[in-house]
Amino acid sequence: MSEHHTTVAEVTIDTRHWIGGQRVASTHTFTDTSPIDGATLGEISRGTPREADAAVAAAKAAFPGWAATPRAERARILHAIADAVEKHLEELAIVETMDNGALLRSHRRGVMPRVAHNFRFFADWLLTLEHEDFTTRGHTNHVTWDPAGPCVLITPWNAPLMLATWKVAPALAAGNTVVLKPAEWSPLTASLLADIAAEAGLPAGVLNVVQGYGSEIGDALTSHPDVRRISFTGSVPTARHIAASAAANLTPLSLELGGKSPLLVFADADVDLAVDLAIEQYDNAGQVCLAAARLLVEEAVVEEFTRRFVAKAAQLRQGDPRDEATDIGPNIHPRQVEKIDGFVQRALASGARAVIGGHRGEGQHYAPTLLTDVRQDAEIVQEEVFGPVLTLQTFTTDDEAVRLANDTRFGLAATVATGDLERAGRVSAQLVAGTVWVNCFFVRDLKAPFGGSRHSGVGREGGTWSFDFYCDLKNTVTAA
Ligand code: NAD
Repeated sequence: MSEHHTTVAEVTIDTRHWIGGQRVASTHTFTDTSPIDGATLGEISRGTPREADAAVAAAKAAFPGWAATPRAERARILHAIADAVEKHLEELAIVETMDNGALLRSHRRGVMPRVAHNFRFFADWLLTLEHEDFTTRGHTNHVTWDPAGPCVLITPWNAPLMLATWKVAPALAAGNTVVLKPAEWSPLTASLLADIAAEAGLPAGVLNVVQGYGSEIGDALTSHPDVRRISFTGSVPTARHIAASAAANLTPLSLELGGKSPLLVFADADVDLAVDLAIEQYDNAGQVCLAAARLLVEEAVVEEFTRRFVAKAAQLRQGDPRDEATDIGPNIHPRQVEKIDGFVQRALASGARAVIGGHRGEGQHYAPTLLTDVRQDAEIVQEEVFGPVLTLQTFTTDDEAVRLANDTRFGLAATVATGDLERAGRVSAQLVAGTVWVNCFFVRDLKAPFGGSRHSGVGREGGTWSFDFYCDLKNTVTAA
């Protein structure tokens, strides 16, 4: 570890901001620790409003040049970034695992390939965007997708580089410049992304990466008058705060927030498939916004479902996320473990029963937990836990299933397990959710819209919807 660098799993990482193509240090730092063993990973520059101003100024200065860069050239550079991500895939995978505790095998085989794909996908999609022309009373209406300007992108720690690039790639493709602020619990791969983008030939100032706390540099970024878009993924309380800051400047916002999604298991479902879908909800130690944390199972199959679920859960291996055999790694931070346990203990104290788990594991692990005997209005049913904690409730009719499924303030996703596709269609039409999966989970086409209803978010991203958000659409009307 030198003053401005740290070495994590033999990868050297610059701990300063990346502003206007230069590394810039703050006067103060914050300590980044690993969820695996609590070890210090680095002392990271702790950004202030000064660095927020500098980063937005750099993005503003670089904007005209990048916006005027031909689409094909922008697409070429985004593909070069994807190539560089693939070249550095092993380093990115291990650093992300050390930093946020998610499984190395998922980072290697799922997450980092998806990071590269985010850049390729939006590079290619950019080239398919058509200018539209309409003619009215002899006047031509020529509609163009103009880049909006500097964008502030604020991201969480549960899938740091994947969620960051889900925003960075379309923002850059559209011709915008970017200031990215990753979460303070997982700052490292964003710093590597800055190096990768420079290696791929992205001009200075087009992508800026700043580090630090939300209440300090985050606040300064989201209230900055020169920012033209804010895209945020994170929690509802932070979203409220950011929306209030953005309101002062009327900055357009995209908010991807939390959830309390249901998995509906009907009696006609393939029970093994339904159990597999339920077990999948423990992925990333339950720290997945889309996780179906509420299992709603039809009364007629609840006994069989529970028996098979318990048998399958007993096979899950908790341990070091670097180990290929591990299924569930640690939770991100001691404070998160505290929060998860608080939810579980309050639920148990108010009459819930732990079918499995219900307690902490070693270090920052939490035992995979299934709670039953929970009331619909209980905190454990209504609030996002963001840990390996599921609840189990039963229903007897389709109407009751839909009523329970929709009865939270969220609306991010829902999963339906049934052997009857007509029922699936009927039920999914009534569910309040940005994404409904039928007999599957998590897969989706990046061309499709992604986002949440109610308190799960504002707006949609993905395919054309990302360009809708990151562009100012302009209609130029010409007299014949
Ligand atoms: P968080 O809201 O605490 O923090 C997210 C980011 O916001 C961090 O970078 C943080 O530094 C920043 N931030 C905090 N206060 C800020 C402020 N005042 N101004 C500007 N920025 C500020 O969320 P988290 O705990 O990091 O992430 C977990 C949450 O994210 C969960 O609720 C989860 O459901 C949600 N999430 C949603 C999606 C989705 O796509 N819908 C995906 C992943 C995670």
